[in-house]
Amino acid sequence: MDLELKDKVALVTGGSKGIGEGIVRSLLAEGAKVANVNRSTAEGEALEREYEALGKECFFLQADLCNEQACAEVVSRAIDRFGRIDVLINNAGVNDGVGIEAGLEAFVGSLQRNLFHYYLLVHHSLAELKKSRGVIINIGSKVSVTGQGGTSGYAAAKGAINGLTREWALDLAEFGIRVNAVLPAETWTPLYSHIIDASPDPIAAKRGIENLIPLGHRFTTKEELADMVVFLASPRSSHTTGQIIFVDGGYTHFDRKYTS
Ligand code: NAP
Repeated sequence: MDLELKDKVALVTGGSKGIGEGIVRSLLAEGAKVANVNRSTAEGEALEREYEALGKECFFLQADLCNEQACAEVVSRAIDRFGRIDVLINNAGVNDGVGIEAGLEAFVGSLQRNLFHYYLLVHHSLAELKKSRGVIINIGSKVSVTGQGGTSGYAAAKGAINGLTREWALDLAEFGIRVNAVLPAETWTPLYSHIIDASPDPIAAKRGIENLIPLGHRFTTKEELADMVVFLASPRSSHTTGQIIFVDGGYTHFDRKYTS
């Protein structure tokens, strides 16, 4: 299937590592051009060089998306470089464990890390997305519908992302802009590997999680996540909007008594 993404321009947040890196690589494989925003520089610059050598554009933008001005700047720098934005992928975030006891300042800080920049990037990209009749994809989390415990800020942010996906899909339908969310549950990333490695028995910890994933008793790969995102980014999903799509091997929806 030709996804018709050649020369489309995608702005991706958090595209240097983990799920975002999978998304960036899949977009580039389909011939898209990418602007990739992260705080750290080493991985983003290495990706840019790697694809430059292949004649592809993976423009690295260093910014902390917790800063409102930085959100405006990354959008304008992407437009300066490419002249347009066809696809916005809000992906950067962190499950930061801000619980009930942490207080309002910490709670707002978590929303800043996980929610406000999703809104700000849509806000600042809107004019371009209207011109391109573009696409927005929000990366959410199973926590938006399952609860996890001990992570009020992240759960509030991810719940809001589901709500905003539907809200924006309706707001923007008249402009031909589609808005969807893709929700991971347990996707294997370097960060996840690091967390598992820090547990007293990493093999047992990994196996314990895998046992809860019905399809194949394994983690989702970042490529599997990315393939869904790239399909939703493409004109081949031209009548899909306002959807909350779980790419999780059945983790979130299956009855626990049959999966554990
Ligand atoms: P990850 O491996 O930690 O990667 C996150 C990326 O986002 C990094 O490149 C990071 O760059 C960037 N980032 C984070 N905060 C940023 C900020 N304030 N400004 C700029 N860049 C920022 O995470 P991941 O596991 O791939 O997660 C990606 C998304 O999937 C997140 O929204 C997460 O909530 C969601 N998710 C993941 C899982 C899973 O199983 N992995 C499950 C549920 C939901 P720097 O390190 O350079 O800052």
